[in-house]
Amino acid sequence: MIPGAGDPGQGGEAGHPLLSLRGVKRIYGAGDQRIEVLHGIDLDIRKGELVAIIGASGSGKSTLMNIIGCLDRPSEGDYLIDGVSSRQLHSDELAALRRNYFGFIFQRYHLLSHLSAAGNTEIPAIYAGMDGAARSRNAQALLERLGLGDKISHLPSQLSGGQQQRVSIARALMNGGQVILADEPTGALDTKSGKEVIRILKELNAAGHTVIIVTHDPSIAAHAGRIIEIRDGSVIADRINEFPTEPLTREESAAAGEDATPDLSLSPFRAFLAGLSRFQEAFRMAWIAMISHRMRTLLTMLGIIIGIMAVVSVVALGRGASQKVTDNISAMGTNTISIFPGKDWGDVRANRIQSLSVFDLEALRHEVYVDSVTPTVNTSVLFHYGSQEASGQINGVSDQYDRVRGADLAAGRFISREHVRDMAQVAVIDDNTRKKFFSGEDPLGKIIILGRLPCVVIGVLKKEESPFGNPDALKVYIPYTSAIYRVTGNNKLSTIVVRVRDGWSNAVAEQQIINFLTIRHNAKDIFTSSSDTILKTIQETTGTMTLLVSCIAVISLVVGGIGVMNIMLVSVTERTREIGIRMAVGARKSDILQQFLIEAVLVCLIGGILGILCSYGVSLVFSYFVQSMSMVFSLFSIVAAVTCSTLIGVIFGYLPARNAARLDPIVALARE
Ligand code: ADP
Ligand code: MG
Repeated sequence: MIPGAGDPGQGGEAGHPLLSLRGVKRIYGAGDQRIEVLHGIDLDIRKGELVAIIGASGSGKSTLMNIIGCLDRPSEGDYLIDGVSSRQLHSDELAALRRNYFGFIFQRYHLLSHLSAAGNTEIPAIYAGMDGAARSRNAQALLERLGLGDKISHLPSQLSGGQQQRVSIARALMNGGQVILADEPTGALDTKSGKEVIRILKELNAAGHTVIIVTHDPSIAAHAGRIIEIRDGSVIADRINEFPTEPLTREESAAAGEDATPDLSLSPFRAFLAGLSRFQEAFRMAWIAMISHRMRTLLTMLGIIIGIMAVVSVVALGRGASQKVTDNISAMGTNTISIFPGKDWGDVRANRIQSLSVFDLEALRHEVYVDSVTPTVNTSVLFHYGSQEASGQINGVSDQYDRVRGADLAAGRFISREHVRDMAQVAVIDDNTRKKFFSGEDPLGKIIILGRLPCVVIGVLKKEESPFGNPDALKVYIPYTSAIYRVTGNNKLSTIVVRVRDGWSNAVAEQQIINFLTIRHNAKDIFTSSSDTILKTIQETTGTMTLLVSCIAVISLVVGGIGVMNIMLVSVTERTREIGIRMAVGARKSDILQQFLIEAVLVCLIGGILGILCSYGVSLVFSYFVQSMSMVFSLFSIVAAVTCSTLIGVIFGYLPARNAARLDPIVALARE
């Protein structure tokens, strides 16, 4: 059984020593730089002993202590904990020992500066999976027992050295601390605080804890019941101190040692809860790290924000555009088919071909799939009204034009079948023309001169909301017969537009029209284009645009991700000591990995959310400047953006997080 994972400390009774070193060597470096710091140490420590390890600076005391505390492994020889060789233990099992069995007290306290006294005390319990309430209760009790009841929420910087060392003792006791390892615990303290710390350690020993104190000070070693002296990496003396110095006071001795070892055997459900609580804790740590570097975090996020904003905005814009076009087309009459003379677009003879005649128009009118039909005969002329003149476009149309194009009248009426039959000199003007000539005047019944043709205004169209053509152009609609016979003198129709009857599919109607006109003309000399085709083209165009901008955005996201990775690597380097401390008090590699990974994901996720919000801001600005169209956000693009930024966090955060998790606790602790 691994001590610490269950019920540690039976070693003494079981006959073998609690801790046992056999020929332990520690060799640093390799080749020319090879230094042997410990030369085969043999040592047995029994349960309940108070041992002082004494020696000059550089003699290898800390190296030995780190091996005893499972922070480091022997290069040669063996180290047995309660009869189990540390060589057989996996790094997670060593972490469990550090967390549940050993309690480390360092010369320089090694508290985390951004956590309160209670927060620091709780760390080993977090990694052990103790639930939050029990954790803070225990931490509070320990701090009170060590005389820090009123300093529970103080940061290390608000505590004196002696108080900080007492916090670190509380931390060592948090999970039981069967074996207390104190490496020069008084080295950084004044005499009084130092004596206080020694008194506490002696009390703990009296309460059943095995205590090992490393010191270079003989007067401190004199408190111990056994003094081991090392010089240059070898034990030179190991003697029993029959008359240890008495502790200063005893009044608190009785109170010590009643803490029951917490129950660390976890049922699957409790293990799950413990995992959850560790995750929560890692999340909180990541959050604290982030907000303590706000500016840097924001700059790191920038790439992600821009990338996500670009993708979400462009997708929304594309959707807005195609929705707008769809709306326009359905306003024009959902199913319209335009018929042109010639074989196809760009037929050079199209101008000379007179394949579309007014007779075709009349014939099409009676086909069953035709709802309504109009030609368009366009010509540009000067319009006159009174003394005003302006150039504009005459549109020769049929009486069904308004139905085909879905045009609405603001006043008057549209051209009738009789007007067409009689080549009547009547005109329906658009909103631009009304504004141009008839501001403040009723245009109905007035005579406007189109080129040389005087026409009575019989109707006014509503303002047109079409994305096609010049929005300021003046347009006047007259019967196509009038246009052909009275204006152009040329009976060529440039286009016929058919609105397909509801219930007929565009494709079928289009084929019918082609067949019908081919038979009529004895040749296929026309071609068609339907609103469906236009819609499809526009959707394809916006699709291509979206793809293009998405590619750019992906590049931006990758660059952003590299930024995140870069900053995370810096952050790991900066926080090496923190990582070392966490490992020393029992964090697993996976805990460290998780903490840094969460931090990277958090940065990216928040960046992604900010990007979405920015894109929403863009849409507000956009709708302020462009009234005719709005950005349409899709849930899919937002979900995809969030997923994407999370993935970036995981991918680019992994390397730095792994670097952090791979740190050697000793090296990490030594780093400033
Ligand atoms: P003590 O704690 O007794 O002062 P240490 O155990 O810290 O001594 O160090 C013993 C010797 O090992 C010293 O000479 C020191 O330079 C050397 N040493 C310690 N750590 C390393 C290391 N990581 N690499 C190389 N040498 C080291
Ligand atoms: Mg040392």
